[in-house]
Amino acid sequence: MVYENRDENDTSEIESESVEEQEETSSEALNEVAKKGIKKVARKGAAKKEAKKTSKTTSGTISISGLPVEGIRKFYDIYAILEAPQEIYFGEETQVNVSIIESIKIPTGGTNFIEKNYISPTKRRGIERRMLIWAPILNGQLYGDVKQCGIPQMCLDFTNCYICRIFGGLDPKGQKSIIGRLVHGGGVAIQALAPELKQRVAIPSIINKTTITQNPIPFKRLYAEGGTLYSIANHCFAMTEKEFQGVAYAFINSLKQLGAGNPKGVKIFEDLWDSNATETEPFLIVDEYSVPKGKNPMPSPFEVDIQKALTFFVSNAKNYPQGDKNFERFIGFKALERLINFATSFVSEILGTS
Ligand SMILES: [Zn+2]
Repeated sequence: MVYENRDENDTSEIESESVEEQEETSSEALNEVAKKGIKKVARKGAAKKEAKKTSKTTSGTISISGLPVEGIRKFYDIYAILEAPQEIYFGEETQVNVSIIESIKIPTGGTNFIEKNYISPTKRRGIERRMLIWAPILNGQLYGDVKQCGIPQMCLDFTNCYICRIFGGLDPKGQKSIIGRLVHGGGVAIQALAPELKQRVAIPSIINKTTITQNPIPFKRLYAEGGTLYSIANHCFAMTEKEFQGVAYAFINSLKQLGAGNPKGVKIFEDLWDSNATETEPFLIVDEYSVPKGKNPMPSPFEVDIQKALTFFVSNAKNYPQGDKNFERFIGFKALERLINFATSFVSEILGTS
């Protein structure tokens, strides 16, 4: 029996939560591993044997961090203003057949606050990881199937699996773990728009009339309005270019999948950047650096005026040192082109050879 897919929201929530839980416990597990490591150092002979066993892999030498040594590592940031082209729903909870949307309260002094819609960074993270797990490779299989890697059972092959290399992972027995080096931020809407409560119905769509039929099930759901803008950021540290290719692939493929149930999907907001501009450009920035020298373009959560928020984004986007060997910034279409080129390289160099 097929209904309108109401459970999809629940699935993404479970995934996001389990991912978060892993992230929180991984630091404890790392401490445990570190303690065990100190004891091992005391037993020098045993430690040397252990190092010999793990020092060589198929793609190079492994360092004490567990990551392969294979090229320059840098910081990478993605900043964007996202636009919901239609109403959008990210679930928080269900109350007697009413699905409540996730929102955030912004204090404005005293006991006053404004309420804004929110695309939780943990939900974006879950969806981006899913893009890698479900990434089609050339022979028709999925990347997660080939690597035997998914949620909650991660493969923990930090040399050959880009899901684990980018998002990190924890062995349930605490024997092996590594932190993710991609973190997600932002997600607060710019406009302070109250969500709309709408009536929906889940209609059975079975074809075989001989099976037992069920009546349509009505339910209510709160939606963020179409046209809501959200400022978001993805930050990466100590990443190789190949790892960032996977981040770019996951980021741009996840945009159309953001949301729970139907409808879903956001796009990078596009408009004239200022009064001198003759062409619209996506509100997107990609930074690659060893020292963070550019201005952070994310508007404050307190800002509710669209024009002021966009002006802030544009003026800060253009505020960075030119020709600096420690900091490179791509803005607008150049940033989009940069991400698409990285994603294309990920398809040909990683997915194409898996
Ligand atoms: Zn893996």
